[in-house]
Parts: sequence; C-alpha cells; structure tokens
Amino acid sequence: MRLRTTLADEEPQSTRSRCGAPPDGSGGPCGAAGGHAASGRFVWPPRPFVQVPDEPPDEPPAPGGPDVPRRTAGPPPARITLHEAEAAWLGVTARSWEASRRELGWLPDAPGTYCPRCGSPAGPFEADAAGCSTCRPKRLAWERCVRLGAYEGILRDAILSGKYTGWRRMCQDLGADLGRAVAAELGLASIQPDAVAICPVPTSRRRRLARGLDHTAILAREVARVTGARVAPALRRRHRPPQQGLSPEARRANVRGAFVPRLGACSQCCGRVVVLVDDVRTTGATLSAAGRALREGVRKAGDREQAVWAAVLAVATRR
Ligand SMILES: [Zn+2]
Repeated sequence: MRLRTTLADEEPQSTRSRCGAPPDGSGGPCGAAGGHAASGRFVWPPRPFVQVPDEPPDEPPAPGGPDVPRRTAGPPPARITLHEAEAAWLGVTARSWEASRRELGWLPDAPGTYCPRCGSPAGPFEADAAGCSTCRPKRLAWERCVRLGAYEGILRDAILSGKYTGWRRMCQDLGADLGRAVAAELGLASIQPDAVAICPVPTSRRRRLARGLDHTAILAREVARVTGARVAPALRRRHRPPQQGLSPEARRANVRGAFVPRLGACSQCCGRVVVLVDDVRTTGATLSAAGRALREGVRKAGDREQAVWAAVLAVATRR
C-alpha cells in the first residue's frame, strides 16, 4: 500500500504534499507552516489524500474507470474549526472569549448581585424589583435590567476587541452568554419566548461602515437564538458625536432625538416584552433615549402598555 494524491501527479508522493511543499509542514504555497496533513489537525481542502492498493487487478475496476482512485475505509478527515480558520486565514491571534474566561475562571454576575432594575452593583437586600437606593427615585425607560458583569477586566477587553477590531466571533460569543442570562431571567418571570421581541440599540450607519460590523445587531441575534425569541429591529439611529468623554448632561443632550422608531418593526413588538440589547450601560442616557423612542413607536403602532427590558454586556460603575 502507498499514498497517492487525488491529482494526476507522476512524482513520488512520499516526498511531496498536494501543493508541492515538503510533508513536514515547513511551508509552501498552501500557506502557513503546519497547515498540511503532516500536522494531523489542519487539513484543507478536506481529503487531500486517498489510500489505494498498489496492485488492484484482482478487484473489479472502480466506478468511472480504472484510473479513478478508490476510497477505502479509514479515519475520517480532520475538520478545521472556526478558530483555526480565523487564525490561519484572517490572522486572528488573540484569545477567544471562551478561552479567556475559562483560563481565568470568569463567570457572569448571578442575579442578586446587582440591582434588577438599573443594573448597578448591589449587595444582598440592597435592591429588589422596585430598584436600589440609586434608581428608586428615578423614572427609567425600562423595567428590568440584565447584565453579564461590570465593565472591567477581561469582559471590558473582550467588548472593546469585538467592537473596534471587527471581531464578529467575539461579539457572537458574548451575545450567546448574554442570551443565556436573559433566558434565565425570562424563565424566572415565566415569560415564554414567543412573548418576547429582541431589539438592538442600533448604531448609526456611518459607524457601522467605519467598524465593519454592526455589533449590537450581532449581539441581538445571538440573544434571540439562545432565548428562542424573535428579533425586531424597531429603531434606527441618527449619527451623533461619540458619547465618550462627555458629562452625564452632555450625554443626554447628545442622544436626545437620535433614535427614530420603525413603525413596521414596532408593530411586531405590540403585546410582547421588548428586550433592548446594548453592549455597555454607562450613565443610561443611550438606553433611556432608545427606550423612549421604542415606547413612542409601539404606542403609534397601537399598543399602549409596553414592557421594556434592558440587556447589556456590562455596566460601567465609574461615572
Ligand atoms: Zn437600581
């Protein structure tokens, strides 16, 4: 028995890979070193080799003629993972969210460790469904807040890398974790997925083009996938200067009137709990503006009572 490539190649195959690189994975036109079957893991395209008998005269010819290589039983071809593809083809070398949080033992905040109304940190018995000492006097544009954690450490690093480097997979992994947190809260409140609509807090078109991805839309899709609810992109956003570095008053003024309801999608929210999804809640100015615009749109679509939740990856505690 000997190995032969699927290509009509007359050279001895024991000394050449499919692309002509040496089989020790030391390089070649296929790409990075280690990208060959010699590594045992990274094989592309699948099944570059087939095993054929040296002398097949005693066997019937293979379908398609005697020159068609015969496939025999053997171990299945190695499959490339998405993270391997990102590393090999896109040059992504940073650690994934899954790897980072597993290494550091990071876990999302458990209910009871933060205020269920505003999302701020709260100790035992410091907050209930009516809020904490900080938010009870305030009128919020949402009734409930779900979060993964404080805006610090590896969660902050992951949010920034997903948002500003266009790392779609990072946003998806974070969104899936947020979806699990939202699903747990919906379950505790006995709310079925078909009674829920997931609405991303949108970014402006100019920022989407500059960043190369719509990170809140990715987060919202993952939350919807995990919870089983539908996505209802009920808002659009007018472009405004960035919120970073502004005082709380300036932040509120900056986003005033920035969100415009889409009446078609707002009609899908009627009678449902709408979960507004965003990456970070800092002062709450952006979420408040989005929540008010959403309520206005749903009211115009014919529903007077609208339940709104906020779901954010992180809450910044320093203001
Ligand atoms: Zn609160």
